[in-house]
Amino acid sequence: MTALTYLSAYPASVQDQVRRLIAEGRLEDYLQRRYPARHEIQSDKALYAYTAALKQEHLRNAPALDKVLYDNKLDVVQRALGLHTAVSRVQGGKLKAKKEIRIASLFKDAAPEFLQMIVVHELAHLKEFAHNKAFYQLCEYMLPGYHQYEFDARVYLTWRDLRA
Ligand SMILES: [Zn+2]
Repeated sequence: MTALTYLSAYPASVQDQVRRLIAEGRLEDYLQRRYPARHEIQSDKALYAYTAALKQEHLRNAPALDKVLYDNKLDVVQRALGLHTAVSRVQGGKLKAKKEIRIASLFKDAAPEFLQMIVVHELAHLKEFAHNKAFYQLCEYMLPGYHQYEFDARVYLTWRDLRA
């Protein structure tokens, strides 16, 4: 039985459906039909602007973002989906928490829905640190259908690994 690393938190019945798609060679088709588009957010500068616009629309009162970047060393399995960091740095003798969002570089080459999902996920962490109910409500508020997109993004990561 294939271990589905990215989908381990989902019910066995759901995982079995994905295993069936894999066994029948239909996983790529599943993704291709639902997510045929690719986005054009290719640079860190573009990613910052994209993230800042989403923040301005939905989370105006959250702390300002210091940095947003693609990170090709990010371990998506270990870090769940992205990487949310509040880096503490001493500035002028004063300890200041820096808000930094790092997005795994593999999302450069993904559907726009998946990029939006991961950015919304990281933005929600500006307000809620844990993956609790309030966190997911915030994600759904910023991106209706969030849960389905997160699931499908995990299916996409599964497909990428199988292809490698
Ligand atoms: Zn998270």
